[in-house]
Amino acid sequence: MQNMPEIFVANWKMNQRHAEAASFAEQTCTLAADISSSNKQLVLCPSFPSLVDVATITSESLVTVGAQDCSAYADGPYTGQVSATMIADAGCSYCIVGHSERRRELNESPETVAQKTARAVEGTLAPIICIGETLTERNNGHTFSILEAQLNPIITALTQCQVSASDACIAYEPVWAIGTGVVPEETALIEVFSWLANYISTTDSLRTATLLYGGSVTAENGAAIMGIEQINGLLIGGASIDFQSFRKIVLL
Ligand code: PEP
Repeated sequence: MQNMPEIFVANWKMNQRHAEAASFAEQTCTLAADISSSNKQLVLCPSFPSLVDVATITSESLVTVGAQDCSAYADGPYTGQVSATMIADAGCSYCIVGHSERRRELNESPETVAQKTARAVEGTLAPIICIGETLTERNNGHTFSILEAQLNPIITALTQCQVSASDACIAYEPVWAIGTGVVPEETALIEVFSWLANYISTTDSLRTATLLYGGSVTAENGAAIMGIEQINGLLIGGASIDFQSFRKIVLL
């Protein structure tokens, strides 16, 4: 585990117009150069229209770029969708799949998320697989059965892939922590991440996955979260929109 990079993913969601994205990307290149001796990987996830620009600006730097979603299909008549290979062609190395906002707003099922994960891997993208339970599910004691129900179809889909998912990330993002300012207690995080580490160790396809935490990460709580064994990175939403705030989290 010791040599694994710490991964800091900025999920800008539907924020950052073109010029803002470009300026943020330039500043992130400088930040990445400043911390090049650390084992930290910075990933910017802009919206689709800014992907090529952000990838071009960061192409000579240590910064990597990811999309916020990809199609469950490889190609074909799917108006409005963007394939994993198109995202890779744009210069990306990562792709977020299964974000709870998409599961909720767009009814993405665990099976659809599994197909997206497989397309990302086949398209040479490292998937950042988001999983997490709602507050009701947690209060009813269903956290682990929900995480399993989200992960199992992904394992099945990856088993059918010809390409290995060795650089996959799994982001545990409890739905009740996203954008709420509420972060799980340390004991709850330890419990979930121990379960996750054990779960992936029993699989072929996700055994080497990097485990990330996401949900109301800030400069105030980031260090404590990163201090938890088995957490090797952060998926940052709201606090990644402002460069100084993202920078503070990365430098913690
Ligand atoms: C997210 O949406 O992936 C996220 C972690 O959001 P926030 O940091 O704003 O809670």
